[in-house]
Amino acid sequence: MSTHAVDVEHEKSAGSQPVKYVYFFGEGHADGHGKMKDELGGKGAGLAEMTNAGLPVPPGFTIQTEACREYMRKGDVSAEVNRQMDEALAHLEQLQGQQLGGADNPLLVSVRSGAKFSMPGMMDTILNLGLNDESVKGLAQRTNNPRFAYDSYRRLIQMFGSVVLEIPKHAFEEVFDGKKKQKKAKLDTDLDARALQEVIAEYKKVVKQHTKRDFPQDPHEQLVMARDAVFRSWGNDRAKHYRRMNNIDDMLGTAVNVQAMVFGNLGETSGTGVGFTRNPATGVKEFYGEFLMNAQGEDVVAGIRTPMPITELDRVQPEVYNQLREITTRLEQHYRDMQDFEFTIQDGRLYMLQTRNGKRTGRAAVRVAIQMVDEGLITKEEAIFRVEPNQLYDFLVPRLDEKNADIEVLATGLPASPGAAVGQIVFTADEAVEKFQKDPKAKLILVRGETTPEDIHGMEVAAGILTSRGGMTSHAAVVTRGMGKCCVAGAGDIEVSEKNREMRVHGKVLKAGDWLSLDGTTGRVINGKLNTIPASPDDPELVKFMAWAEPFRRMGVRANADIPRDALQARAFGAEGIGLCRTEHMFFAEDRLPHMRAMILANNEKDRRTALKKLLPMQRQDFIGVFRAMDGYPVTIRTLDPPLHEFLPRREDLLVEIAKLEITKPKSPKLKELHTLLNRVEQLHEVNPMLGLRGCRLGITYPEITEMQARAIFEAAVKVAKEGVKVKPEVMIPLTTGLKEMANQAAIVRRVAEEVFNEKESKIEYLVGTMIELPRAALVADEIAKEAEFFSFGTNDLTQTTFGFSRDDVGKILTAYLANGILKQDPFATLDRDGVGQLIKIAVQKGRETRPTIKIGICGEHGGDPSSVEFCAQNNFNYVSCSPFRVLTARLAAAQAGASAELNVEAGRTK
Ligand code: ADP
Ligand code: MG
Ligand code: MG
Repeated sequence: MSTHAVDVEHEKSAGSQPVKYVYFFGEGHADGHGKMKDELGGKGAGLAEMTNAGLPVPPGFTIQTEACREYMRKGDVSAEVNRQMDEALAHLEQLQGQQLGGADNPLLVSVRSGAKFSMPGMMDTILNLGLNDESVKGLAQRTNNPRFAYDSYRRLIQMFGSVVLEIPKHAFEEVFDGKKKQKKAKLDTDLDARALQEVIAEYKKVVKQHTKRDFPQDPHEQLVMARDAVFRSWGNDRAKHYRRMNNIDDMLGTAVNVQAMVFGNLGETSGTGVGFTRNPATGVKEFYGEFLMNAQGEDVVAGIRTPMPITELDRVQPEVYNQLREITTRLEQHYRDMQDFEFTIQDGRLYMLQTRNGKRTGRAAVRVAIQMVDEGLITKEEAIFRVEPNQLYDFLVPRLDEKNADIEVLATGLPASPGAAVGQIVFTADEAVEKFQKDPKAKLILVRGETTPEDIHGMEVAAGILTSRGGMTSHAAVVTRGMGKCCVAGAGDIEVSEKNREMRVHGKVLKAGDWLSLDGTTGRVINGKLNTIPASPDDPELVKFMAWAEPFRRMGVRANADIPRDALQARAFGAEGIGLCRTEHMFFAEDRLPHMRAMILANNEKDRRTALKKLLPMQRQDFIGVFRAMDGYPVTIRTLDPPLHEFLPRREDLLVEIAKLEITKPKSPKLKELHTLLNRVEQLHEVNPMLGLRGCRLGITYPEITEMQARAIFEAAVKVAKEGVKVKPEVMIPLTTGLKEMANQAAIVRRVAEEVFNEKESKIEYLVGTMIELPRAALVADEIAKEAEFFSFGTNDLTQTTFGFSRDDVGKILTAYLANGILKQDPFATLDRDGVGQLIKIAVQKGRETRPTIKIGICGEHGGDPSSVEFCAQNNFNYVSCSPFRVLTARLAAAQAGASAELNVEAGRTK
C-alpha cells in the first residue's frame, strides 16, 4: 500500500489541512446532534457535551469514525491518525500529571467503542489499559491498595485477551473460577491480592498458549492494539446482525474513545452503576437503575453479584445520590429526552461515564412522550416523533404479568413475533389441532425444531410458537407475525424430540402437557404458567397520543382482511376500509373445495357454470359478512388470483394413491376418478406457476369465474344496502399488464353489476380498478387508467417481478446479498425506493395524467412498513393497506410523514 495514495486522499477530503481525526472531550463542534454524532459517535458526543457542561467526566479524547472507515478500507490507519492520537495522549498525560502505564504513578485509560447509533453490547470496550508488570506495582503502592491494583490488572488481561487477542472468554473464566474454588471464595471480591497475583500468572500463561507471545507490556502498543480491535469490532457478526435488524448503515464505522480511568473497585466507598431518568419498561417517571459498590465496569450487568436498586444509593452515599439525581435531571432537560446513563464512584466522588437517549418499550415511549409534553419539555409535534411506529405493536398483543411472579428463564431465543403466550406444550401440529378440537379453550404452545407450511393448521390453534432453529425470517417468524401471534424462534439451547414428545434444555426435560410461558418481545422461554395481561388497543394514553398524531395524517389506512373476524379486528385498530380482500382463501374451506375442484376439472363451459353456481351462494355469504363488518367503509375485493393447481392435490400424492389402489382395489371406480384428476393436474402443471395462468389471465380464460364473483359481490352489496349498511365495493382485477386485459375484465364486472341492479331494482355505487404489480403495468399506467378507477400497488409481486427474485425463495439469496452489502434490507419487507419505487412513481404520475381523480393505494406487505408508508405519503397515495396488526403502526407512520411534510422537519426518530 503506497503512502502516496493516503496523502492524495487527505487532500481530497480536507484541502491542504489534514483531516481532524482526534478531538479532545469538549473540543470542537458543540451540538450533540447532527455532524457531531456522525464523527464522534453517540458516546463521544455525549462525553464531549457533558464535559462542556462542566459535569464531572474523566478527561479523554475521541478518535473519530473516519479513522474506522479508513481502517476498514485499508486494514490500517494512516500515520496522521497515529500522530494526532499521540498528541492527544500527551495532552491527557500532562493534564493528569501521569504517564500512560508509568512505573510509579501510571495513567490508565479505557478504550471504548461508540458509533453514531447506540448498539448496546455489540462492540467492545477495554478497561485499565496501561497496566503491566511494573505499573501494577506502582499503582499498588500509590493507592496503598494492592488488592485493587491486581484486580485491575487481571481484568485488563482478561478483557484485552478476549477482545484484542480473541482468546475465548471461558479460558479465563475457568482460571478465575478455579481460583475462587481453591480459596473457597464466594464473591470475586473475596479474592485477596496474593490470590489475584496467582490468577494473573495463570492468565499470562493462557495468553502465551493461545497467541504464542507474551501479554504486551508496552502500554503504547496496548493502546494501538486495543484501538484497532475496537475498529474491527464494528465488523463482528453480532454488530452486523444488529445493524441489519435496526437498519443502520454498515459504512458508518465506530469512533474510539480513550478516557482516563476512574475506579469503582477501590474499596467500599467506590462503586459503579447504570440508570435511567425514567422507567424504560413502563415510562413511569422514577429514578431507575442499579449499582454495586466495590465493582468495575460491567459487573453490574454481568450478574456476578446482585446489584442494588439505585434508590438505595441514597442510603449508602446520600451526597453522591443527590448529585447524581441533579446531574441526570439536567441531562434530561438538556437532551429533552429520557436518559440512560453510566457512572462510577471513586472514593466517594461521582464521575459520569456515559449518557444517551434511553431505549424503551412502546408503552414507555408513549407514556414518556405524553408526560414530557405535560411537563413542557417538548411540544406535541415533537412528541409524535418520540414513538417508533413499529413499537405500537406492544399495545396490540398480550404481555406476561411479571409482578410477584417466579421467573425461571429456560432459554432465550429470537424475539420473532412479539407478545406473550402461556400454554401447554404440544410437539406436532396434528396434536395441537386434536387437543383444540377436544377443548377449544385449550392454551397450547407448539414446540418444533422449525415449522414448515404443513404446520399451519397447528400454528393457527396454538397460543404461541417456539422453535429451536431458524431466524427472524424463518417460516415460524414470518407466519406468526402475520397472525399477530407470539413466537420465539431459534432458541438454540433447546433440543426438541418429536419422537419422544419432549424437549431438553440445560439438563431439564419438559414433556407434552407441561406449561410454558413465552415472551415474544424479549425472546425468553420461561418455565411454568405465568399470567398474561391482555392487549389494550384502547389504552387511554395510546388514544391520547394518537389524537395528537392523527390530524397530521393525510393518507387513509386500510387493512388486508379476507374474513369478517379479521375485518372487525382491523376496525378496532382503526382501519378505514379493506384494501385487499382475497377471494381464493374462501375456496379452500372443506365444504367448498369439492365444488372448486369440480369447476377446475370441468372440460366445458356448461359443467364449469354448474359448479360455479354451487359456489355463488357461499361466496355471496362471505361478502355479506365482510360488508357488514365494514359498514360505511370501502371494501376492495380482488377477483381470483392464484394458479388453479393450488386447489388440486399434489401430483406426487395422486401418484402414490393411484399406485396403492391399483394393488389393493384395481377395480375400484375411484381409480378412474383419480386418473382424470391426475390428467388435469398434469395439464395444469406449469414450470413457473407464479408467471403462469393466474390473475386476470384466469378471468380472461374462464370469464364465468369473474362473472360468478362479480355477481356474488353485487348481490351481497345490494342485500346489505337494503339492511341499511353503507357499502362501497371496489372490484380489483389482479395482474394486468395493459389496457385490453383491464377492459376485458371491467366489461364483465360492469355488465354483471347492471344485471344485478336491474334484477333487484336497486343500485349501489362501486368502482372497478386494478392492481399494479407487474413492471409493464406501471409503464403503461396511463393506458390502464382509461378503464381503471383505482390502482392498488401489489408490491409483493411488483418487487418479485422487478428484481426477478421469487419471494418464496428469496431467503436463500438474501443472506449473501445482505452480508455483502449488495442490498441494505430485504426488499420484500421495506420497499426498494430506487427500483420498485421508480416504477410506482411512474405509474402514479401516468395514472393521474389520464384520470386526475384516480384512487391510489398499496396492498403489499409494505403497506405496514414505516419507511414504505412514508414513501407512499410522499407520493400522495390515497391510502395504504396492511395486515390488521400493523394498522396502528401504519397510522402513526402516515401521521409522522404528514407531520414532517407539514412542519418541514426530518422524521427525527430516536434510534
Ligand atoms: P458499552 O458501550 O458496551 O456500554 P462502555 O464503553 O460504556 O461500553 O463501557 C462499559 C463500562 O465500562 C462503562 O459503563 C463503565 O462502567 C466502564 N468504563 C468505561 N470507561 C471507564 C472509565 N474511564 N473509568 C471507569 N470505568 C469505565
Ligand atoms: Mg456504556
Ligand atoms: Mg399479486
